[in-house]
Amino acid sequence: MSLALGDYVSVPWGKKEVVGVVWALAGDEELDPAKLKSVQKKYDCAPMPEVQRHFVEWVARYTMSDLGAVLKMALSAPDALQPPKKARLSEPPCLIAEVPGNTLVFSASQRQAADALKQIVDDQKYSAVLLDGVTGSGKTEVYFEAVAEALRQGRQALVLLPEISLSAQFLERFERRFGVLPALWHSEVTPAQRRNVWAGVASGKTRVVVGARSALFLPYADLGLVVVDEEHEASYKQEDGVLYHARDMAIVRAHLGGVPVVLASATPSLETMHNVKQGKYHYLHLSARHAGAKMPEVSVIDLRAKAPGRGQFLSPLLQKALQETFAAKEQSLLFLNRRGYAPLTLCRICGYRFQCPSCAAWLVEHRKHTRLQCHHCGHSQSMPKHCPECHAEGSLAACGPGVERIQEEVQNLLPDARTLILASDVTASPKMINEAVRQIEDHEVDVIIGTQIIAKGHHFPSLTCVGVVDADLGLAGGDLRAGERTFQLLHQVSGRAGRGEKPGRVYIQTFMPEQTVIQALADNDRDSFLDVESKEREKSAMPPYGRLAALILSGADEMKLDLFCRALAQKAPRFDDIRILGPAPAPIAFLRDKHRRRFLVKAGKSVAIQKFLTDWLSTVKVPSSIQLKIDIDPQSFF
Ligand code: ADP
Ligand code: ZN
Repeated sequence: MSLALGDYVSVPWGKKEVVGVVWALAGDEELDPAKLKSVQKKYDCAPMPEVQRHFVEWVARYTMSDLGAVLKMALSAPDALQPPKKARLSEPPCLIAEVPGNTLVFSASQRQAADALKQIVDDQKYSAVLLDGVTGSGKTEVYFEAVAEALRQGRQALVLLPEISLSAQFLERFERRFGVLPALWHSEVTPAQRRNVWAGVASGKTRVVVGARSALFLPYADLGLVVVDEEHEASYKQEDGVLYHARDMAIVRAHLGGVPVVLASATPSLETMHNVKQGKYHYLHLSARHAGAKMPEVSVIDLRAKAPGRGQFLSPLLQKALQETFAAKEQSLLFLNRRGYAPLTLCRICGYRFQCPSCAAWLVEHRKHTRLQCHHCGHSQSMPKHCPECHAEGSLAACGPGVERIQEEVQNLLPDARTLILASDVTASPKMINEAVRQIEDHEVDVIIGTQIIAKGHHFPSLTCVGVVDADLGLAGGDLRAGERTFQLLHQVSGRAGRGEKPGRVYIQTFMPEQTVIQALADNDRDSFLDVESKEREKSAMPPYGRLAALILSGADEMKLDLFCRALAQKAPRFDDIRILGPAPAPIAFLRDKHRRRFLVKAGKSVAIQKFLTDWLSTVKVPSSIQLKIDIDPQSFF
């Protein structure tokens, strides 16, 4: 059998056969024949492109993951390697850059940005660009022109979106611009579609892929452009398996392939803005909302002065706004990033609190299903009638609001209004989200109550009033990016208001109106907010001014875990520009029946943090009862 680098092969693995990729060819070195096994067969398809192999190696090295674990992400449709059976592969749609009847007329600032992107794509070499513009300024339409240019060159384009934004609305716009739908790649795509997309991407026939982060690992025959929309989104970080940040890896992929990458956002991350300031990224700005739609007016409601009534969570001012909006036949959106009815249930007689048996977390009441649920491990139990501790009847009280409880309050306030909850457990699949979005577009709903899934790119012309029920929620944890994330999220949520002809109003309920984040939202002053945040980060040498890595250790036996953590801490090599914080109990110190400890490694910008960690970890042997996870550039700190 003659094999070349990148060939897909089938090899024996224990008792099974698995798909592999030829990664290196043996030189003159003598190998022990007893340890060798034969390649069973070579698949009759194009080999994995060289740039893809380099990318897989790069990701494995950077994230300190096993090469095989990363390669597995690049072999996500093994069926596609088989020759087509009786059913032929459906031909990928024919994509063309010029669609007759595409009548969009760009504003001057849109034209300028589109021309600049076109030029960058024309240059056919690596460069990174930030496309910055408020929601509704036309970023999507503008980067579509970059996609069109890649098509004119006969190359492929990848558009990455946070999973939830892969909506019918986006696809309709794509279809309007290009005449056909793009190839889709996300968790809901069927195995048959997967196989088609994979094969089409590998052969080069599929020209545009729109997908979630895993679309980065497809075997593009000739990728000419990468776009990362909503680049600031935390969901670009994969939090299990290989811990990688899809936005950062998109930059790497573009760099290895020598092609441009466009990052788009209305609230760019601090990291990206830093790269712009350093001159590493180009910068394009869309200044105004399309067709002069105004940014909404933001009012901050101080909950200390204007408290909601007993057992209520909406202050009188917000209630009045909801009534007025409903009377004017317009739509309102209430935002609360908390699923279920109430985040905590306790007994009024004895004080008993319902806690998850497997996690250090309260159980959340879901009244619709009369169940208590753990939002960390999925544990679920029925809601008892008696207190399990003191057996009192009718003594259980719900504490605090979730979206279901807000819905109840709205129904009491506006009995005739039609309400809808948008949350990941209620509207779980893209299909359900699309249906909900359609109902909102067709004005079959008056008040929407939503968690963060509502913040993403949807465009609802009749939505004029937005209420943020609890602006302080995201600030409580105190992690590195709490302020930044709260700003991004609430800014995006606010941006849902007044996207049509009618102006929008936003109400933000908070107990801490003096905070920088809240002030920045009220003044719609993103850039000064980023400046203040950036100075704080610089002072504390946090990213983007320094580097971070986290070690998360978990195990069922708490004593053993602590012993090992202490031993590990003692072995830490000492350097001037590296600080090790911990071991400390993780914020969720008990999860899925495992105790959890964290180390945080803080290093100077120039430190090769992976090398440091490799050296450190090579001094110990992790017991099999303890799991160690390495998180380079951690985004979440739970
Ligand atoms: P963003 O991505 O910045 O939120 P979009 O690209 O989604 O903005 O544009 C918002 C809305 O305005 C979309 O419905 C889009 O089709 C429309 N739009 C943007 N630019 C124009 C234009 N020049 N002419 C007509 N409609 C436009
Ligand atoms: Zn749990």
